[in-house]
Amino acid sequence: MWKHIADNLARIRARIEAATAAAGRPPGSVALVAVSKTHPAEAVQAALAAGQMVFGENRVQEAAAKFPALRAAHPGLRLHIIGGLQTNKAREAVRLADVIESLDRPKLAAALAEAMAKEGRRPDCLVQVNTGEEPQKSGVARAEARDFLRACREEWGLPVRGLMCIPPVDQDPRPHFAFLAGLAAREGLSVLSMGMSGDFEAAIAEGATHVRVGSAIFGARAQANWDQRR
Ligand SMILES: *Cc1c(COP(=O)(O)O)cnc(C)c1O
Repeated sequence: MWKHIADNLARIRARIEAATAAAGRPPGSVALVAVSKTHPAEAVQAALAAGQMVFGENRVQEAAAKFPALRAAHPGLRLHIIGGLQTNKAREAVRLADVIESLDRPKLAAALAEAMAKEGRRPDCLVQVNTGEEPQKSGVARAEARDFLRACREEWGLPVRGLMCIPPVDQDPRPHFAFLAGLAAREGLSVLSMGMSGDFEAAIAEGATHVRVGSAIFGARAQANWDQRR
C-alpha cells in the first residue's frame, strides 16, 4: 500500500542530484525535507524504511500526534516545523522540532525565545520571508526582513540559521528564490529552504540548501492550499 513512497523518493532524489549537478554544485549539497502533513504515520514509516530521515509538518498539533513515537523508534529522525506558527504553540514547537522554518514576527520571536529558555532546547530557526508580499501568507515583508533578522539575533538571541519562502503560485518562482538567496548572502546565513514539488529544480538552480517536497513523495492531499493559511 505504501510502496509508491519508496519509488517516489528514489525519483525525487535522482531529480535533486541532477539539478544539483546542472547547477554546478557539489553532490549532496541539497537536503530533502519530506513534507508529510495530512499523511498518516504509516506513510512516514514507509519513507523512513526507504532511508528518508528529515520530515516537515506544518501544524504543531499534527506533528505532536505523529512524531514522538516515530522519533523514539528512529533516533536520527529530524523534524522541521514549516507552517505558520501561533504564539501559543511556540512551546510545543520548541519541544518537538529540530528546525522551525516559519519565524516571521516579533511576537513569535519573543515566544520562541521564552520557550527555548524554559525547555532548555534550541531548535534552529529560519526566518520566513513573504517574497510575494501576499496578504494571506505568513512571512515577514521584504522591506522589514533585515531589521527583523537583526532583532531575532540580537534582541532575542535566537539561533537563526537561514531563510525560507513560498513564492506566489501564479508567478515564476525564480526571481523570488533569487531574492531570498541574495538576502541570505548579505546576512551571512547559510540555510536556504525553498522549492516544493512543483519548483524544487528552479530553487536548486538559485541556491536552495533544503527543498520541501510533499505531494510528489506522498501523493495528493485532500485540501489544496490549506497549508498557506493561518
Ligand atoms: C505543504 C508544504 C510544502 C510541500 O508542498 P508540495 O507542493 O506538496 O510539495 C512545502 N512547504 C510548505 C511550507 C508547505 O506547507
